[in-house]
Amino acid sequence: MTSSTARRLGIMGGTFDPIHHGHLVAASEVAHLFELDEVVFVPTGRPWQKSERKVAAAEDRYLMTVIATASNPRFSVSRIDIDRPGPTYTIDTLREMRQIHGPGTELFFITGADALAKMLTWRNAADMFTLAHFVGCTRPGHHLSDPGLPKGRVSLVEVPALAISSTECRDRVRAGEPIWYLVPDGIVQYINKRGLYRD
Ligand code: ATP
Ligand code: MG
Repeated sequence: MTSSTARRLGIMGGTFDPIHHGHLVAASEVAHLFELDEVVFVPTGRPWQKSERKVAAAEDRYLMTVIATASNPRFSVSRIDIDRPGPTYTIDTLREMRQIHGPGTELFFITGADALAKMLTWRNAADMFTLAHFVGCTRPGHHLSDPGLPKGRVSLVEVPALAISSTECRDRVRAGEPIWYLVPDGIVQYINKRGLYRD
């Protein structure tokens, strides 16, 4: 099968605690620029780099990701990382995606500039680059550059700048400040309904 007929699948990994418009814009823009057939959002189970802080229950993060992506026919959500026991490593995500979708699918792993910068420190980094093409997106407050990935395995793209982070959303909820328009309406309502991030 030639690459022109291969299915093109984006993978947007994240803790999504909570999912916000920065994630959604990056995925949408990369889907457009790379002519992706679909972008699968993959909420982490236990993020290995965030073990020191309390992360919302995987089921809440999964449901928020479903709510935020439901209206986009090209977006979907996978449970593979939250259903895998133990800490989440992207190498496992990519191997499982490759297994599910087979050799006829090209994988594009989407990250923001901050995540891309740390990529070489991730477990089995060298193997990851054989499984997917990496797309690094601009993110306000972070410098976007190729951290030294193998030649031809990474693209750097500019996406509309949204200075939003999940950390700031959580802090705002805790402080009683609004998060309307930083996250989809359904996410504001879900956070309120479940009483998330209020400690
Ligand atoms: P936290 O503050 O909890 O780390 P976050 O906002 O960084 O949350 P993550 O779930 O850690 O969100 O990020 C998932 C992916 O989305 C990462 O690759 C990250 O770089 C990217 N990303 C997050 N926010 C933005 C944004 N505003 N613009 C572009 N990319 C983003
Ligand atoms: Mg982050």
